[in-house]
Amino acid sequence: MRKYFTHIWRFLCGEDTLPDRQKYSLMIYCVALVHIFLTFAFFYLNVTPMFLFNIGSVLSYLYAIFLIRQESYLPVYYITYFEILIHSLVATLCIGWQFGFGQYIIGIIPVGFYLSHTMKDIKHRLSVALISALIAMVAFMSCKILSCYVDPFYIIDSRKIEIIFYIFNSMCTFAFLIVLSVLFVYEVRITNARLRHQNAILDQMANTDPLTGLYNRRSMNLFLEQALESDSRFHVIMCDIDDFKKINDTHGHDFGDIVLQEIANITVNAVAESGYVCRWGGEEILILISNNTSEAVLRIAENIRKSVEYHIFELNQKLVHCTLTLGIAPHQKGDPFESTITKADANLYVGKQSGKNKVVM
Ligand code: GH3
Ligand code: MG
Ligand code: MG
Repeated sequence: MRKYFTHIWRFLCGEDTLPDRQKYSLMIYCVALVHIFLTFAFFYLNVTPMFLFNIGSVLSYLYAIFLIRQESYLPVYYITYFEILIHSLVATLCIGWQFGFGQYIIGIIPVGFYLSHTMKDIKHRLSVALISALIAMVAFMSCKILSCYVDPFYIIDSRKIEIIFYIFNSMCTFAFLIVLSVLFVYEVRITNARLRHQNAILDQMANTDPLTGLYNRRSMNLFLEQALESDSRFHVIMCDIDDFKKINDTHGHDFGDIVLQEIANITVNAVAESGYVCRWGGEEILILISNNTSEAVLRIAENIRKSVEYHIFELNQKLVHCTLTLGIAPHQKGDPFESTITKADANLYVGKQSGKNKVVM
């Protein structure tokens, strides 16, 4: 029971959808309760056919609860649907249209569409809902027309009872429609929130490198294109870890991964809001710095180089030093960004040739 209320509470807080079993059994319990009330009412009024019919209804809803436990929901819908149609027809014939039993027929229509939206495993879901709605419409009209030509079998000669029945039936129908609509809106909201969350994860997966968390090459190409389109001045810095192969060979690939991750963090912290950092290749990091002077870019690059040089990489009590070589190139107006990257690469090569752990502009 506690679990039941926890689910309802989580649902109302917009945290989770209500499980089908609990949702449908809650609805059927309410419908059964209405029929228990009607059974007593018809017993009190001595309308025997309706009294017996409602006993049958209560039993059929108990059977529906059993079906819900078996997770067999479509038969539950059919039981409810036909029970309501026949109940309205019999009630109209027995005591007349003015007691408002016909309204339940309108109330059942959205259920078919709700199910067609939520139940993925039912074939021809929309057709079932549409045909049910059309049959319901015909049944509603038939009840009304029948009531014009056939006198009710029982005459309940009390305005008060007529109004009480009418208000009770209207309230039940309205309450049911409101609950169903709220349920639908909540579920759509929760599903949308889930989709947004999944999209954000997919977005992140598509744009970042899983090992370092840096932007990937695809994202960097977009940033470079944007920088070209905005016509702003920008620099690119190509960084390459020195003797990384040796680090891998000496301390293992896992340790190499940690070095890569930590260098990525150092770079991101040094660049901060000044630009974008991406993992360009294996152990190559490409940085795009926009709207900065060459001196400022040089300072950022030097800062990264020093931070890596003084950083101690640690794994299982192994302490290792590592260095980085960086090549910088300012973008020349009119050049494609690829040629700026090539120039940065060439400067990086100069740095490697002249002893590594260098920044070359
Ligand atoms: P240099 O100073 O000239 O750059 O020497 P280097 O050893 O760094 O250069 P080289 O290009 O020969 O080696 C790069 C190494 O980087 C080889 C490759 O196994 C390693 N590597 C590339 N991607 C990863 C990775 O994701 N994780 C690890 N651990 N190693 C990687
Ligand atoms: Mg290298
Ligand atoms: Mg390399």
